[in-house]
Amino acid sequence: MAVKRNLEHGPLAAVIGPCTCRPKDLRLRSNHGELVHPRGGLVNHCERCAMMAGYENMEMLLLDSLEGDPPTGLLIFGARTATLDMGAYREARRQVARALRREFPDFEYARLTEFTTGHGPKSGGLRRSHDNVMTKGIPAERMSDALEISAAVWCRHVDAEVHAQYGEAMRTPSAALKYVIGHFGKDSQRPPAGFEGQRFGVSRCYFSVPVKVMRARAREIQARKRETWKLEQLGRGGHDLVLDVELALRRQAATIWTPATTSGARLGKDVLPDEGLVDRLRNAGRRSLDAQLLDELAGEYS
Ligand SMILES: [Zn+2]
Repeated sequence: MAVKRNLEHGPLAAVIGPCTCRPKDLRLRSNHGELVHPRGGLVNHCERCAMMAGYENMEMLLLDSLEGDPPTGLLIFGARTATLDMGAYREARRQVARALRREFPDFEYARLTEFTTGHGPKSGGLRRSHDNVMTKGIPAERMSDALEISAAVWCRHVDAEVHAQYGEAMRTPSAALKYVIGHFGKDSQRPPAGFEGQRFGVSRCYFSVPVKVMRARAREIQARKRETWKLEQLGRGGHDLVLDVELALRRQAATIWTPATTSGARLGKDVLPDEGLVDRLRNAGRRSLDAQLLDELAGEYS
């Protein structure tokens, strides 16, 4: 785990390479005079952004588990056919959640949709998807009932066989942590080309705080790790390292970013929280991203 966590911002990131979805003509300028080219955050199209989003999701789940509320069960739903049309899946997920909540009123879930590599001998080169669903609110001894209920509903909506669906109790917090790290922290997260859905989702009360709050906390932890890694590369250690990380984080908190052109000219008077930028870019969609984004920014910030 230690190695993996250091890789997150270091050598692994170098293997995956830089963000390929950066908006071409947009930069961010800080009040300290830096000019940076922001990531696009298009997680379905860019390996680097998919990796960063994956680590952020993992961080939220780890934080939640470590704070004493780990998931207690796991359900895995697959299908026989490979498809990118997620409409049937969405309905199946909704109906499964409804059925489980009827039987287990405290049911909550965190879901990650994964795709097979398409390299298996029987895959025919097709990347099939499956949903990993970590559950809360289902007693361990009733996981087989939960599987029976949910597999029947799932297979009514998706081309799948009841016996091929899977469920088990995660009896210890460490089992849950191991699962989170193994599946939610995978190196390569990008779905097949053409996929437009959301690969990660949590039910409303899965976390004890709103998802937005959990995400902000996860980002803070990751910023700390990033700064630590950067300073370690510069040879810092011991007390110096702790102090320098603290100073770097304080400076970061006091940094104000404004959208700018490639030459550094401001695009508007207002400031732009960088957290909002990624979401804004994500919403802008992939087609003519630059034009759309600049229009949007021009409207909003001029
Ligand atoms: Zn990107």
